[in-house]
Amino acid sequence: MKYDVIIVGGGIIGCSVAYYLSKRNQKVLLLEKRDHAQGSAGATDGVVSYHTKKPGAQMDLAVQSLKLYETLEKELGESVEFVPDCGGMQLAENKDQWDMLSKIADKQRESGVDIRMISIDEAREIEPQLAPDLYGVLYAPCGGKVEPIKLTMAFLHAAKRQGVEVKNHLGVTEIKKDSAGKVIGVVTEDGSFYEAPKVVISSGSWSAEVGKMAGLDLPIKPRRGQLLVTEAVGPFMHCTAQCALYNVIKFMPETIKDPKILHIGASLSIHQTENGGLLIGGTREWAGFDRFNSLEAVEAIAHRALRFFPALKNVSVIRAFAGLRPYTPDSKALIGGTKKVPGLYLAAGHEGDGIALAPITGKLLSEEIVDGRSSYSLEPFSPDRFS
Ligand SMILES: Cc1cc2nc3c(=O)[nH]c(=O)nc-3n(C[C@H](O)[C@H](O)[C@H](O)COP(=O)(O)OP(=O)(O)OC[C@H]3O[C@@H](n4cnc5c(N)ncnc54)[C@H](O)[C@@H]3O)c2cc1C
Repeated sequence: MKYDVIIVGGGIIGCSVAYYLSKRNQKVLLLEKRDHAQGSAGATDGVVSYHTKKPGAQMDLAVQSLKLYETLEKELGESVEFVPDCGGMQLAENKDQWDMLSKIADKQRESGVDIRMISIDEAREIEPQLAPDLYGVLYAPCGGKVEPIKLTMAFLHAAKRQGVEVKNHLGVTEIKKDSAGKVIGVVTEDGSFYEAPKVVISSGSWSAEVGKMAGLDLPIKPRRGQLLVTEAVGPFMHCTAQCALYNVIKFMPETIKDPKILHIGASLSIHQTENGGLLIGGTREWAGFDRFNSLEAVEAIAHRALRFFPALKNVSVIRAFAGLRPYTPDSKALIGGTKKVPGLYLAAGHEGDGIALAPITGKLLSEEIVDGRSSYSLEPFSPDRFS
């Protein structure tokens, strides 16, 4: 069988790429080794915002992605529990953290967004459950939340309706090239050959392994995150919130000297889901592909949650899970073609931002694949920047 494009990996990113390519009338085959939300798309938070993004190109992508989110539910034709403009907060415990967040906010505002520093009293008018002894808060009134599994499946259903062929439980084992080194297709674990002049690697934390099949050495590795889920409670909070340590651990781990913090990278990220449960993260750990929960992390996450939201002491934790963020050394995803292997494209390495950036990744990459260039330059995300 011959296709225009073959996509390797059907998590939220692969499904988004498939959806946007099929909108452009491409004949697409999506190959998924397991099932669609068995990667990190099925073990994640659903924060869709830009106040957690690295200033610069990453932030620009988040702003554009949020714009796409506004009409996505209608476009895809099913509910993804998207809540627009619930707002986002980052919580400072002391003046040092306030100064650090203020500096990040100054840079983030260069992308034309409304991000302000507000007092704890102002913040408690928005979120009354916040601990009163906090120093202050970074507040972004825009930004929302979504149910990531529902969004992954909604992209998949819409892509299928638009003609994308999907094969689950069929991993890719080889990427084939011609004598000039150009991509000609893939071989799957049952030995079948599928032909296409263009192949997209969207295999999340497994992208380095898949990249090797084409002779690439990609610096993507799994960074484990553990999360707690509470019982459903009445309306508890409206915003999504993180503690100030969240961005530091995410973007600047080298600045942290405390070995206890570095060990599991525990910082708070919390929001309430549509069914009333609270999703409370998280950690950033190097644990290979291990997706187990540890008691140490569960305790650390619960402690941080209580520090910022004391009323949680009466709420039961009912479940814990862990997922793998596809980490890159500069906290930016790899999106676009590579000069090393003509016909090969990357949409991988979104670390903790893949849910927020899924729509814009699919849109811009489909433009590059079909038109040869995208409406926003993908240069900062070039897979070749590490060579
Ligand atoms: C604890 C935690 C909290 C997070 N919170 C947020 C958040 O609030 N907001 C946000 O934006 N992001 C968040 N993220 C990040 C987000 O979940 C990821 O960036 C995103 O899910 C990555 O999607 P993906 O499609 O690239 O990877 P995955 O969902 O992992 O999909 C990759 C797929 O490729 C498949 N695959 C692998 N090898 C092969 C092969 N050889 N052949 C075929 N298929 C293959 C896998 O089976 C898998 O299904 C969080 C992540 C974690 C772990």
